[in-house]
Amino acid sequence: MRVLVVEDERRLADNLARALREGAGYAVDIAGDGEQGLYLAESGDYDLLVLDLMLPKMDGHALLSRYRQNGHATPVLILTARDEKESVVRLLNAGADDYLGKPFDLGEFLARSKSLVRRGKGQRSPVLCIADLRLDTIEHTVRRGEREIALSPMEYRVLEYLAHRPRAVISKTELLEHLYDYNWEKFSNVIEVYISGLRRKIDDDEAVKLIHTMRGHGYVLRAEALPSASAAKQPQGGAGNVKSGEQPKKAVKH
Ligand code: CA
Repeated sequence: MRVLVVEDERRLADNLARALREGAGYAVDIAGDGEQGLYLAESGDYDLLVLDLMLPKMDGHALLSRYRQNGHATPVLILTARDEKESVVRLLNAGADDYLGKPFDLGEFLARSKSLVRRGKGQRSPVLCIADLRLDTIEHTVRRGEREIALSPMEYRVLEYLAHRPRAVISKTELLEHLYDYNWEKFSNVIEVYISGLRRKIDDDEAVKLIHTMRGHGYVLRAEALPSASAAKQPQGGAGNVKSGEQPKKAVKH
């Protein structure tokens, strides 16, 4: 997941970014004024916007209105000072999803952020289940049936993103844009490594495979049984017969 924090108080912005990175495993970009905030919000693929109200160049109201008018549905969490209570109503009417009054507790900030990210993906429960796979987004734990699966932090983040959108084909570019900050293009070769790690830990020795590669399109998390035990022993042909040296087609940025 990737979050944009639009906040001109640098120390607060850094604290929020650290909490999101360390407490939720999210990638974070920071914008220090409203104009930069709107520009980044509209050019990046974010799972959550954290928006301060009083900002240089363009205030939070104007940013939010423009963002919603331009058709963006990403959840927005507003940060507001105590004397801005009246504007909260206007903000909720303008398309904000939640707000926090300053000063606030970082634990509450994290919980509200995670909840908004889930709701933005149509997920209500913090525990995501795909067949017998259970991913707990509060505890950051993963189980397959009775088996507990230890993942690296990046493997967890890849799996969490896929699990928020089960059965959807997720391109490598989409994964990169949602798992890294604005530097994401530097990391374009690592996704395959995390996917193969996940596949080894989650699917090896299981009859029902959950992680699937759609060549040239991306990855899907869904339950898919082998046709039958005997069919699995037959030599592979047709679509399964991919040349070993062949590279997956590069995802095209939309
Ligand atoms: Ca401010």
